Amino acid sequence: MQAVTASPQLPPAEDGVVRIDFHVHTNGSPEGIHGLAEVVAEAKRVGLDGIAVTDHNHLLSRRMAAKLSRELGFLIIGGVEGGDLVRRKRHSDDHRHWIGLNLDELPDLEEIEEITENVRDNGGLTIAPHPNARNGFRDYDRLRFDAVESVNGTRREQAIVGKGIATVGGTDTHAKYMLGHTWTDVYDSDGSVENILENVRKRNCVARGSPIPVWVIARFYFAVAERYLLHEPCELIQSWGRQLRKFC
Ligand SMILES: [Zn+2]
Ligand SMILES: [Zn+2]
Repeated sequence: MQAVTASPQLPPAEDGVVRIDFHVHTNGSPEGIHGLAEVVAEAKRVGLDGIAVTDHNHLLSRRMAAKLSRELGFLIIGGVEGGDLVRRKRHSDDHRHWIGLNLDELPDLEEIEEITENVRDNGGLTIAPHPNARNGFRDYDRLRFDAVESVNGTRREQAIVGKGIATVGGTDTHAKYMLGHTWTDVYDSDGSVENILENVRKRNCVARGSPIPVWVIARFYFAVAERYLLHEPCELIQSWGRQLRKFC
């Protein structure tokens, strides 16, 4: 009998369709559990064709992502989930998150309109993750994001529509066993990063899946708590505070 915490196994995709998880954290994020190699191994196992690495305020550059793709034999799109920590450091009240993909450097800009424009001008792609959350951008269409995350694995949000831009799915995984529940089917793919992102810009993609089961998320929270208790007990309360805010 399969363990209840096992990641799903996706059936094979149709020809020309690639299955991408556009919102993946590794241990490059504060609460990330697993390193990139472990995450990639699990992404392969569940049947994904690629992942976008979106660690908090830590960019995996386009060039480094290409190098890691070759080494690990799997499509890796470089990226970042910005906002929150950087803005907190700058004493801004705006903690809302944005995702930028396929960038050479982290935009050193304050205003979200400047960031989406900068990413677009540099050939990247912007996604508004968890738009209905307190740390999301509800006005994603007005702010000229390229795509909105209509299915996020860790949140149970109201129905989200594209309002003229693409809708994508991402797990927002912080542990490898959270993969495979939510993803994006991108059509007419030639397998290259630029082609995949261009198809998203053209809305030639569909968000798939559903939120991650609560027992899988609970497993992750216990892993975070255990790690902090063992290594950084003073950080534990702050970490739980960050996680609880996600549900407010
Ligand atoms: Zn976020
Ligand atoms: Zn995230």
